[in-house]
Amino acid sequence: MSANEDCIFCKIIDGEIPSAKVYEDEDVYAFLDISQVTKGHTLVIPKAHVKNIYQTDEDIASQLFARVPKICQAIEKSFKPKGINILSNTGELAGQSVFHLHLHLIPRYDQTDGFNPKWVTHNDDYSSEDLAEIANLISQNI
Ligand code: 5GP
Ligand code: ZN
Repeated sequence: MSANEDCIFCKIIDGEIPSAKVYEDEDVYAFLDISQVTKGHTLVIPKAHVKNIYQTDEDIASQLFARVPKICQAIEKSFKPKGINILSNTGELAGQSVFHLHLHLIPRYDQTDGFNPKWVTHNDDYSSEDLAEIANLISQNI
């Protein structure tokens, strides 16, 4: 396990900082986000310290996401939200404030429940050729 001594989430995993634990196994830890954007807002983190998705290998990603359905199902059973947003902020501009990979599970109750992402569409700005070019570039870099 690669703990980082400056990382608050590593400290939470080690029990140095208390948390409201939802789930734990040998690879993954889940606990309530202190901000509770909506009721039941949960963070799911790998026990290995990786900064964000850019540093994450397939094993860690598989272990992490494998636990997400059962935790979401438990949130659904507990609070009967109308939906859940699953989100990972990567990089400061994208809203990442803790640099240990985490997935936010944000139960959704209604339009004014506290989570309000603004989703601007730009369908008219891109031709199918533009889309093919963008897809090609990303594809070549995989
Ligand atoms: P980010 O902004 O990086 O996507 O998310 C980090 C999240 O960690 C924030 O939503 C913040 O509320 C949560 N957080 C920060 N410090 C603590 C803490 O000490 N305990 C808990 N439970 N959550 C924390
Ligand atoms: Zn960490």
